[in-house]
Amino acid sequence: MPDDVVEDHRCGVRNALRAGWEVLASGGTALKAVEEAVVLMEDDETFDAGRGSFLTADGRVQLDAMIMDGATMRAGGVGCVERIRNPIRAARLILSESPHVYFVGEGAEDFVAGLGMRLIENSELVIDRERERLAVAQARAAAGERDLTFAGPGHDTVGAVALDASGHLAAATSTGGTLNKTPGRVGDASLIGCGCYADDQSGAVSCTGWGEPIMKLVLGKWAADRLTTGALPDLAAREAIGYLNSRLDGHGGMILLDSKGRYGIAHNTPRMAWGVRTGIGEQVGIEITRS
Ligand code: ASP
Repeated sequence: MPDDVVEDHRCGVRNALRAGWEVLASGGTALKAVEEAVVLMEDDETFDAGRGSFLTADGRVQLDAMIMDGATMRAGGVGCVERIRNPIRAARLILSESPHVYFVGEGAEDFVAGLGMRLIENSELVIDRERERLAVAQARAAAGERDLTFAGPGHDTVGAVALDASGHLAAATSTGGTLNKTPGRVGDASLIGCGCYADDQSGAVSCTGWGEPIMKLVLGKWAADRLTTGALPDLAAREAIGYLNSRLDGHGGMILLDSKGRYGIAHNTPRMAWGVRTGIGEQVGIEITRS
């Protein structure tokens, strides 16, 4: 995360925390809280989610998102959608209105449009900053540079985990994926157990980072499962990022919450924006590397 966008990230996280907290403080569910927190960040062009996302190699926005309810283990996910402003709302509709978990591309768009969601033009999601980033990434690729993802603007997926007054957990993750990705590529963010997972009996988790290694390790579920054998979320999150690093040389970050409200935040990237809100107060951070 370049220096000049640190404050925007801090601000975006703070706004998302408030939106989620408002739901919880008025007795709403964890599921609703994570949805509202993620919508705020999808609407904020700072992040790689919704409008302002990284572009595919052919200059489009393709979005992935998942939401999961730890109480019922119902989940909804979308992959490669191009005409939905808030993919987390689409994922939420799938969770409640379909017996299926995952919809992709036009099928996802048709499904939610059938339930009344307005579809938009893909161009409404594309901004100039991302056209420029894509041009730079493609110029570097043409010059033979390999690790575009790390050399470029990094990762900016958004996610939230929450615990409500009834003791239920939920998680949500939303992304535009990686810069210059091949059209049709799906990342970890929307894949159940990879970048998003919630089960009251283990934990709620959301990941960001280089999606392919995270997927191969099914990292979200890997971390949540450790909570069932007594690990605290702080340790489990750090171990998960350590595992990502040591096993596949991956990079990324994770937020992890258990049903007692204990949480872990870990990343092996130089920075990750995160925030925590509890009944006691609010904390927002960017640079503390806790992996
Ligand atoms: N994890 C996301 C993906 O690979 C990217 C990110 O976190 O920015 O699609």
